[in-house]
Amino acid sequence: MEDAFAWPHDPSGMYTARSTYDKLNQGAIRSPTAAAIWRSWAPLKCKIFAWLAVQHRLWTSDRRTRHGLQDNTSPCYTCLQEEDTVEHIVVQCVYARQVWHTCFDSLQINALPPNDTDTLVEWWLRARSGFQGKHKRGFDSVVIGAAWMLWKQRNAKVFNRPEQVKDYSELARAILDEIREWYNAGVGAGGLDRFVRDHT
Ligand SMILES: [Zn+2]
Repeated sequence: MEDAFAWPHDPSGMYTARSTYDKLNQGAIRSPTAAAIWRSWAPLKCKIFAWLAVQHRLWTSDRRTRHGLQDNTSPCYTCLQEEDTVEHIVVQCVYARQVWHTCFDSLQINALPPNDTDTLVEWWLRARSGFQGKHKRGFDSVVIGAAWMLWKQRNAKVFNRPEQVKDYSELARAILDEIREWYNAGVGAGGLDRFVRDHT
């Protein structure tokens, strides 16, 4: 008997790239927010931001401290009360919660805005469960857009750009304008219109 080649990971015994890829991913844990982020209608730069945010891989002061880039964590640049961390900046800070609340109110979204002990992922998964199909994608897009704008506000303070700093109602309006621009640019496939309101 001559030796014969056989590939054990495909029933046919023939090598396929797909079976190899599946094999390499066996046991991998899928991030619960992966679909929420990558299937949303947010622009790519915002999706990448959200992907890093849910993994705490943004360069906030706690991460900079862990990597030896600063000696101590900084207080939040907005409320000066808690630490500058992803969870604080995007959901827990009183400023962030006012922004979420104002956005949800203007859009008549029934989901509860985050409270001061929620984490971004926990709260997001809970809130999006109230939406179906294309509206779920629309809601995810709003969450990503708002989180991204909250992060940019934090950076405007960190990098000393006072002309960009907004109060919570100005930022909420800027977020709604941003979503409307995405919608006007033709994204959303009928799911984003629910999250666009005329406002001045
Ligand atoms: Zn704060």
